[in-house]
Amino acid sequence: MDSAQIRDEFFEQYKDFYAGGPVPQYASNDFAYYLECHRKRLDDKGITAVKKIERIEDDINKVLHKEKPPYVLDMTFKECNYETEYYKDGTFLARSDKDTETLYCNVLHKPGYQEETISCPNCGHSAGSKSFINGCPMCGTRFKTFKFFPCVTSFYTLPKFIDRSKTERSLKDVVKLGVILAVIVAIGVFLYNWLAEGSLGAGIFFGIIAGLITGWLGTIFLYLGFSLILGITAFSRMFAQAADTSDIQAARLTKKRFETDMARYFNDFSYEYFEGKIQDLLKSIIYSDNRSDLSIYKGQDQLGFLDDVIDVEYRGGFKYLGSTVVGDVLHVRLINYVFCEVCIDGKIKKYQRSFNMELIRRLNRAEDLGFSVHAVNCSTCGATFDAMHEEKCPHCGHPYELINDDWVVILVRPG
Ligand SMILES: [Zn+2]
Ligand SMILES: [Zn+2]
Repeated sequence: MDSAQIRDEFFEQYKDFYAGGPVPQYASNDFAYYLECHRKRLDDKGITAVKKIERIEDDINKVLHKEKPPYVLDMTFKECNYETEYYKDGTFLARSDKDTETLYCNVLHKPGYQEETISCPNCGHSAGSKSFINGCPMCGTRFKTFKFFPCVTSFYTLPKFIDRSKTERSLKDVVKLGVILAVIVAIGVFLYNWLAEGSLGAGIFFGIIAGLITGWLGTIFLYLGFSLILGITAFSRMFAQAADTSDIQAARLTKKRFETDMARYFNDFSYEYFEGKIQDLLKSIIYSDNRSDLSIYKGQDQLGFLDDVIDVEYRGGFKYLGSTVVGDVLHVRLINYVFCEVCIDGKIKKYQRSFNMELIRRLNRAEDLGFSVHAVNCSTCGATFDAMHEEKCPHCGHPYELINDDWVVILVRPG
C-alpha cells in the first residue's frame, strides 16, 4: 500500500478516533500512545474535539522518499483544510481556524518486514502485532511493547494564507447573484409594461432585454466589486501573516546551520524527521498526567502550567540556538514555535507560544528511525519492555537509559 493511501486512511480513522472510535490502525504505537494521552486530557477537561480534514480540489499532493536502511521514510504532504471545533456539554466553544493548511505526515516503511506474532501478557492470546493496537482483541489488556510497519509516525500542519476553495465558491455565488438579479429585473420590467402600459408584447420584449442587460452588466460589476474586496482582504491578510510569521521565517534561516552541525554527528541526518520528533516530544510531555517519572523528560521544571493545554499546533518552524557535546552526550538547544489551545474554567483561548527546549542524546549509537520508547530491548536479558515510565528492565533489573537510543528533553520553558 502506498504512503498517500495509508495517510488518507489514517486521517479518516483519526477523525473517528476523536469522535470516540478506536486508535487508527496505522498509528505507530508511540503515536497511538500520544493519541490516547491527548484524548484523556480532553476527557479530563470535559471537552469534545471534532477534527475536520477537508480535501481541496486542486491540491498539492506529494511524497518525499528517504531511504535509510532498513527503513524507508515517506514524508507526504498535501493541501487541505484542517480544523478543530471544541465543544463542552454539546455547546460550541471555539474553532481552531478557517484557513487552508499543508498537512505533513510521516509514514515509515520497513521493506521485507514480516508482521511479528506477539502474545498478550494477560491472557496469552497470540496474533499479529498490528491487531493489538487497541489492546488485546481477546481480553482488552492494553500494552504497547511492540512495533509494526508500515506506520504513521507523526504529522503536523502548516498554515497557508489564501483559501482557494472558498474563492471559487464565492465566484460561483457572484454568477448566481447576477442571474437572480437579471430574473427580478426582467419580471419587473415585464409586469410594468404589461400592467401599466397595457401591452403584453412590449412587456415580454422589454422584459427580456432588461433581464439580459442586468444579467450581463450586473455580473460584471459584482465580479469587479468582489475581486476588489478579495484583493484588499488578501493583501491585508498577507501583511498580517507576514507580521505574524516573521519569527518563523527568521527561525527557518537556522535550518542550514543546524543540518551542518548535525552532519558532524549523524550520517544522513533528517531535518524533517527531527522536526516531527520535537513536536511529538513536546506534545507527549504536555499531555502527560505524571511527568515525574517520564523517561522522555528529565528536566528540573515541574511544568504544571501545561496541564490546561488541550491542543498544540506547530507554527512551522523552530530556531536552532546551538549545540554542545558534554562527554559523549550531544545537547541541542532550540526555540519551538507553536500555538496552544488552553482551557481554563471551561473557556478556550488560543495562544502563540515559543518554548525554549533542550534535547540530549548519546552519540555512541546510530539513529534508528524505527525505535520506539514503548518497545525497547534490554541489552542484558533481551526482553522487550515499555520504557516510557521505567528506568530499568522489569525482567532483570538492568538499568536503561533512553538517551542511548533517542532524544530526551531536559528543558521546556516558555520564552
Ligand atoms: Zn489478552
Ligand atoms: Zn533485562
